[in-house]
Amino acid sequence: MIPYAERTRVLVVIGTRPEAIKMIPVVRALQDSGTFRPVVIATGQHTDLVDDLIRKAGLRVDASLHASQPVDGVKPSLNEMVARIIVGIDRVWSSESVPEEYRADGRREVGGAVACLVHGDTSSAAAAAIASFNLRIPVVHVEAGLRTSDLLSPFPEEGNRQLISRIAALHLAPTTTNKMNLVREGVDYDRILVTGNTSIDMLQWVATQEGGFGPGLEELETDPRPRIVLVTAHRRENWGEGLENIAAAVRELAERYPETRFVVPMHPNPVARRSFIEALEGMPNALLVEPRDYADFARLMGAARIIITDSGGVQEEAPALGTPVLVARETTEREEGVHAGTLVLVGTDPTRIVQEAVKLLDDDDEHARRAAKLNPYGDGRASERIVQALENILRDGPVPEELNGGGLRNAVRRRFGLDIAETHV
Ligand code: UDP
Repeated sequence: MIPYAERTRVLVVIGTRPEAIKMIPVVRALQDSGTFRPVVIATGQHTDLVDDLIRKAGLRVDASLHASQPVDGVKPSLNEMVARIIVGIDRVWSSESVPEEYRADGRREVGGAVACLVHGDTSSAAAAAIASFNLRIPVVHVEAGLRTSDLLSPFPEEGNRQLISRIAALHLAPTTTNKMNLVREGVDYDRILVTGNTSIDMLQWVATQEGGFGPGLEELETDPRPRIVLVTAHRRENWGEGLENIAAAVRELAERYPETRFVVPMHPNPVARRSFIEALEGMPNALLVEPRDYADFARLMGAARIIITDSGGVQEEAPALGTPVLVARETTEREEGVHAGTLVLVGTDPTRIVQEAVKLLDDDDEHARRAAKLNPYGDGRASERIVQALENILRDGPVPEELNGGGLRNAVRRRFGLDIAETHV
């Protein structure tokens, strides 16, 4: 075991709640490796949600960039936030110890990192990737290769993820489909490793913890439990009409199924909250609550009859828990779940949302068919593979083992017109 101070430093950038959820297992695996020392940089794109998650996971933030902190009561624009992150990474990287204005609760020596890990498609990830590229620090892209191929949907995420793929040195793709998206864009086949999604690592860790659904939902913890429909929606491209339509559909369903509880953990963003409050406040079976702790939310996902959401992460977690999802978006980059039948892409037309929900609420056979527990997104060992890859590249360790995910068998069986439903990880 190498003493902590002498281990190879790598930067790990975390901006939003989903990034925290998916990077926590990676940070842990790096710490446990005995060879790496993760330097955790929180950009501050989301603040409270991220800090809370990291603290509860027993980890610490080394530098906080305060990217979305208001100045004189005014929240920064998207570009202002991106600019602050680029400058912040630059300053932190160029110092031996974290500059005063970015100091957090972790260790202070930060210089000399040999790689920068960014996750997915947020503006934080894109900004950190650009900053690292300009500093000639190799960019390692975790959750690489997801695509809708519609640059404006989801916005700005599709643009962000394409941009990161152009400058990353190593691409860690959750699935074979993601890998092939990158290959089609001309990324070197040999610089892509299929790891599975780290969200499944986190879900498996949480599955070992006892608990309920969190404050305001105690009435759902009775035995027998009332039927639950879980709803989350907040994405920028749905702001306005999209969210109003989703909320109207939930209202119609809540009127139609008075015994069912419609649980809406509302995103902190005021724009995202407004539509739900206007449509559902005062309805006895609509429970508008604050965002859940991750573990409480994972238990809710597992307990729900169906989930209606525009979230990306939930589309990966729900299939692993066997809960069917209506995806309230026009496009999805999680086509594996659609193939598996657990995800149905319904868009934001209220009539379509209601129709599909009714099918799954009324028809037990249809529900059972869609709830078949499949795990196209990973086996819970993604973080281990990521660390293996870094050990192989940076410290001459053994060649990492790729997650095959039944890829070869599925692809050939599909080509032959054979059933592939039973062939997953
Ligand atoms: N999540 C949570 N509490 C909630 C709602 C969601 O912990 O009240 C988790 C969820 O399990 C998933 C992630 O947050 O892992 C998804 O976040 P979000 O929908 O904000 O972002 P996206 O996945 O669309 O990028």
